[in-house]
Amino acid sequence: MSDAIRLKVEKIDKVFKRRDKPSVEALRSIDMSVAEGEFVSIVGASGSGKSTLLRIIDGLIAPSGGRVLVDGRAVDKPGPDRAMVFQQDSLLPWKTVVDNVAYGLTLAGTRRADAERTAQRFIDIAGLQGFEHHYPHQLSGGMRQRVNVARALAVNPKILLLDEPFAALDAQTREIMQTELLSIWQETRKTVLLITHQIDEAVFLSDRVIVFSARPGTIREEIPVTLPRPRTLELKRSPAFVELVDHIWKLIEAEVRAGIKQS
Ligand code: ADP
Ligand code: MG
Repeated sequence: MSDAIRLKVEKIDKVFKRRDKPSVEALRSIDMSVAEGEFVSIVGASGSGKSTLLRIIDGLIAPSGGRVLVDGRAVDKPGPDRAMVFQQDSLLPWKTVVDNVAYGLTLAGTRRADAERTAQRFIDIAGLQGFEHHYPHQLSGGMRQRVNVARALAVNPKILLLDEPFAALDAQTREIMQTELLSIWQETRKTVLLITHQIDEAVFLSDRVIVFSARPGTIREEIPVTLPRPRTLELKRSPAFVELVDHIWKLIEAEVRAGIKQS
């Protein structure tokens, strides 16, 4: 990680205006930054505005106030400097793994041979060797998410945005994906901003965890995670890890419980 600030979020507000219904204040005055090469996670109760913030950072929706800067430059629409991975995979079902991973490059006008070579590199990094010519429906959920991550990385973004990428996976697959994401991050040194509702996932992966409070979403606390790297799953049993997870859970427990009652 360097000291250079890669992503800066300045005073972001978001109010959703709705016809014939009260408007929803989703975010209020969010200020945060992520350093080049840093891995930061955001946790918070459901409805605390996490996805809204990520979509604003990606440029998919406009904030009501404030701005987003990448390397000091304001951005207000999607661009190749940011790549997003969602909970539900967004692979093209009629394209093979290699064509899916190469897709963004092809769209950007990269020559086919070059796009395929780059795609192959990220297929290897994502541990998908041997599945290049499979179609999405022939892969498990975990493998499809690896293809999504490979595809996001193939366009060489400065920032990888991940919105609950493993939420649809079973617990064992999720843990394996966590260790794989760590090794991908170690190898590519990308700046990562991850949203998750799994506190242990956030602590395990991150250099820093940002805790949101709900309605409107605001930053309640930022928690540096100084646990040593490289990290393996055994770390989750260490007292320091358990203590951090417990601390974060106490910060959001009341809101999570209130959310369960509401839904
Ligand atoms: P999270 O990802 O933390 O669960 P979201 O960012 O999805 O939260 O949502 C934050 C709040 O904004 C919620 O109350 C949600 O209902 C509301 N919201 C999100 N998108 C829209 C929209 N397009 N129109 C109206 N309200 C929205
Ligand atoms: Mg969300």
